[in-house]
Amino acid sequence: MYDGDRAEYVGFELSAYFGHRGLFDRAFEAVARIVDEHIDRADVSFDAVDHSAIHLHQLLRQLPIGWQPRALRLPADCPAPHRGAARGNRCPGDGFQPYPDATMPEGPEIRRAADRLERVLRGRTPDRVELLLPGLTHRGARLQGRPILAVQPRAKALLIHFAGGYSLYSHNQLYGRWYVVRAGKTPRTGRSLRLAIHTRDHSALLYSATDIAVLSEAELLRHPYLGRLGPDLLGPSTTLADARARVEEQRFFRRSLASLLLDQTFFAGLGNYLRSEILHVAALRHDVTLGAIGGAARQRLAEAAYAVTQQAYRCRGVTNELERAARLKAQGLSFARYRHHVFARAGLGCWNCETPVQRVDVSGRAIFFCPHCQPGRSRQTRKA
Ligand SMILES: [Zn+2]
Repeated sequence: MYDGDRAEYVGFELSAYFGHRGLFDRAFEAVARIVDEHIDRADVSFDAVDHSAIHLHQLLRQLPIGWQPRALRLPADCPAPHRGAARGNRCPGDGFQPYPDATMPEGPEIRRAADRLERVLRGRTPDRVELLLPGLTHRGARLQGRPILAVQPRAKALLIHFAGGYSLYSHNQLYGRWYVVRAGKTPRTGRSLRLAIHTRDHSALLYSATDIAVLSEAELLRHPYLGRLGPDLLGPSTTLADARARVEEQRFFRRSLASLLLDQTFFAGLGNYLRSEILHVAALRHDVTLGAIGGAARQRLAEAAYAVTQQAYRCRGVTNELERAARLKAQGLSFARYRHHVFARAGLGCWNCETPVQRVDVSGRAIFFCPHCQPGRSRQTRKA
């Protein structure tokens, strides 16, 4: 699952750089918190960890003030330059600036990226397709000279279908990022280019991703990630009826809502912010099982999952009620503040009832909820 992997990847990169297991654990913990709290608010970019020469200091500089030194105190045997960085001395990475528009890749964001690509690629025959990951370069030949038929998001992966039965598969994980630029232009980025599709008018460029493949139709059908995906709530053929049917499948009944809503085999494309928001709209708590909440509540869950995800796609990630969001925006609140019902709003008043929003961590991932609007197990069961 893509979201959990994000923190692990960053922790891995850091530990590979520092070669220190003790640091890895602490890096993982700190990064998991950043991912939960800040990536989704577009405050932090992980561009820094894309480079093997990253300085831990660069990452630390992006952490909220207050837990920078505590969260990642370096061990005594850590290489000296980085101890210096952790003490606050300047290091070569000091000029680093995070991207202001770092995107949060859940289903709605992936679909919007696919829309941008489709506008410039669909129906075009690329002049050149470059696959730059080691071990993949020779496979680009299969795609040369073939028209592009469609760009299709599948949960958090993206498929570019070429005529002749080949598809280009990419999964951005945390760190991958697509750019679309006019032909001959290059985006200003320090990232590594991994895939480039050049048409006469545009270039579609994928940076930093490491999960890229050229697949035949047969390979597509056997693909381990694609093959296991549940209904994609943004898929063109997925309907509310599909969502309603999914929540009545008994094989999911013993699972908690917290775990199900991040499981791509249940619904594809959901991630951490959508989970908290869907549960809030459905007035359900994360710690009950699907089987325990009763039929009426399961249908509320299906409706909320469908509606919230669709709105997030249409409205650039806004999951709050649209009228309320417009009002709050007019009052001068920032996007991060008016965007959600509960996600990343711990301690702030619920928009409905003013009860402070609470945060709990389940398997290292944050869930935000209103204890009044989303009552616990006993009340919920009665209500259902
Ligand atoms: Zn409330």
